[in-house]
Amino acid sequence: MRKGIFVAVIMICCASVSWAHISLIKDYHVDKTRQDVVIKTEKVSGNIYVLFGQGGNIGVSSGKDGILMIDDQFERIADKIKASLKELGSERPRFLFNTHWHGDHTGGNPIFGKDSIILAHNNVRKRLSTAQTVMGNNIQPIAAIGLPLITYNEGLSIHFNGEEVRAVHFPSGHTDGDTVIFFTGSNVVHLGDDFFAGRFPFVDLNSGGSVAGLIKNIGELVKQIPSDAKLIPGHGAVSTLNDLKTYHQTLIETTDIVRQAMQKNKSLEEIKKAGFPEKYKEWGTGFIKADRWIETIYNSYSVSMNNTKK
Ligand SMILES: [Zn+2]
Repeated sequence: MRKGIFVAVIMICCASVSWAHISLIKDYHVDKTRQDVVIKTEKVSGNIYVLFGQGGNIGVSSGKDGILMIDDQFERIADKIKASLKELGSERPRFLFNTHWHGDHTGGNPIFGKDSIILAHNNVRKRLSTAQTVMGNNIQPIAAIGLPLITYNEGLSIHFNGEEVRAVHFPSGHTDGDTVIFFTGSNVVHLGDDFFAGRFPFVDLNSGGSVAGLIKNIGELVKQIPSDAKLIPGHGAVSTLNDLKTYHQTLIETTDIVRQAMQKNKSLEEIKKAGFPEKYKEWGTGFIKADRWIETIYNSYSVSMNNTKK
C-alpha cells in the first residue's frame, strides 16, 4: 500500500556538506588509503538522523527499540560509523537496510552483518553474491556474512521505535533492486540513489537501471510523499518535496532534449556537442557531468527502442 503515507518532519539544514566530500567519484574510484573521513551526524526529524561520511548517505532510526540503519558506506570506515552510532544509542544496529547493491551503500555489510539483520530487495542479494561490473570496474562478491538475510520483492514493514518503517521496492530506476524507506511517524523518507539532490543522477544500466524507470519512480514518489516531509537522498543534502519536484522536472526536460535529438537521428557526439541549455549547468557539477548524463539517456533509450523493434 503506497497511498496514504503520512510522514511528518523537522528540517535540519545540511547545506554545508560539500559534494566533493560525498561524491561518487570518491566512491567508485575510492581512495582506499584515505584516513581523514569524518562522519557527521545530523538530526533530520523525529527518531531519524543522517550520517554523512564517504559514500551514500546513512539513515538512522534511534529510540527505545534500538538502532535501525539504512546503508553503511565502506568497510574501511565501519569503526567510525560505529562510533557515531554509539552516540545515538548503540553501535550494533538491530536492522540494516540496503537501498541497493552498490559498494558505497553496502561496503560495511561484512562488519555490520555480524550483529545486524540485513534486509534488501531480492536483486540486491543476487548482485552482492555474484561478480558485477560498475563503470568498467569489476566488483567481487561480498563475504557471506554481509549478504542480506531477509529479502523481499515488493517490500515490507518493520514496526520500530514507535512507528512503521515501510520499505518499498521501486522497479528499475537507479538499479533493479532499489528500495525507498518511509519513516511514517517521523515524516522522513530515505530515497537511496533514486535521488541525487540537485545533480544529474547515476543510472546504472548494467545493473538493470533505466532512465524512463527512474523518471516514473520519482513521479510516483512526488505524488506519495507529504509536502512537509524531509527527504534523505542517496547523495547530497537533506531535501524537501519541492527539491524532489525540481529534480523530477529536470530529469524530464533534459531527457526530452536528448530524445528529440535522437528522433532527428543526431549522433551521440552531436548531441553531446550541442549540450544542455545554460540553466542546467549546476546539475552537471557533481559526479555525473552533462556529457555522461546525455550518454546515459542515449544508451537507456537506445536499448528500449531496440527492444520495441524486436
Ligand atoms: Zn548507487
